[in-house]
Amino acid sequence: MQGKYAFFDGGIVPIEDAKVSVRTHSFNYGTGCFEGIRGYWNPEERQMLVFRMREHYVRFLQSCSLLMIKLPYDADQLCAITLDLLRKEGFESDTYIRPLAYKSDELIGVKLHGLTDALTIFATPFGRYVDAEEGARVHVSSWRRIDDNALPARGKIVGAYVNSAFSKTEALLNGFDEAIVLTQDGHVSEGSAENLFVMRDGTVYTPPVTDNILEGITRDTVMHLLSEEMGLPVVERSIDRTELYCADEVFMSGTGVQIAAIIEIDHRPVGTGAMGPTVRALRDRYFDVVRGRAPQYRSWCEPVYVGANEKVTA
Ligand code: PMP
Repeated sequence: MQGKYAFFDGGIVPIEDAKVSVRTHSFNYGTGCFEGIRGYWNPEERQMLVFRMREHYVRFLQSCSLLMIKLPYDADQLCAITLDLLRKEGFESDTYIRPLAYKSDELIGVKLHGLTDALTIFATPFGRYVDAEEGARVHVSSWRRIDDNALPARGKIVGAYVNSAFSKTEALLNGFDEAIVLTQDGHVSEGSAENLFVMRDGTVYTPPVTDNILEGITRDTVMHLLSEEMGLPVVERSIDRTELYCADEVFMSGTGVQIAAIIEIDHRPVGTGAMGPTVRALRDRYFDVVRGRAPQYRSWCEPVYVGANEKVTA
């Protein structure tokens, strides 16, 4: 099943009407940015809960600012538009929400300034992003991560995802589930669309935001749960490739992948070669949090439907 609507050109329209020209600047040059947000269906409450939507839109506006895109909406207005769209769709399942801001001019010429900006948002029912969430086999990519002074990974920039596509395709065609990508100077950066965590001797390490990562919202959630709830020290520092081979547990985090255990890297088992106890406990807690079953984190979960399953059916 796909969504039937999109926010496009200032209003909600049937998805068939949300079309752009082949001449569109962003289609030609990759001059757009986007977000990936998840809505979780809570069957007991018959409610959809959008996870940390405001934080996603704050990051979206930062990506816009990198690309000199000015939208006539602030983060709260973007949240309101998204809720309207989701109510109109009326999904009763886990959902993926894709806002996209882009240079919409139909002209030839590579630049950022003096162009027209547009916004679209669509949503689709969505399950797993990586099948092997309980035990992914990964390799270190032969592709390097884009560098901040070439194409900033800090922004979710459309054109930059060719770098992710290179590494993901190489991994899949070589029989792995995901890729770990290194920075130009050879430190661990992240997965093709996930942040990375490495546990050694009871401490959890994750690359710093200066190692060409996307500043993940799941990363932030995970760091909070590990340190505040599970009492584990979490250290942001550069990670060497071979530390991956010596780790007790390694896992990925992201809106799409959620929390996925990595059980093998470059044909070497991680720890025992099966999902470790820390990532198992973290995943359980994470799913409670995102589905609205942890009262103290309920403010991260934005309800879509107004009353008990009161949906707009028009
Ligand atoms: N890194 C990259 C390159 C990504 O595309 C994503 C997915 N948005 C992430 C990390 C994880 O970010 P988040 O937890 O905010 O989804």
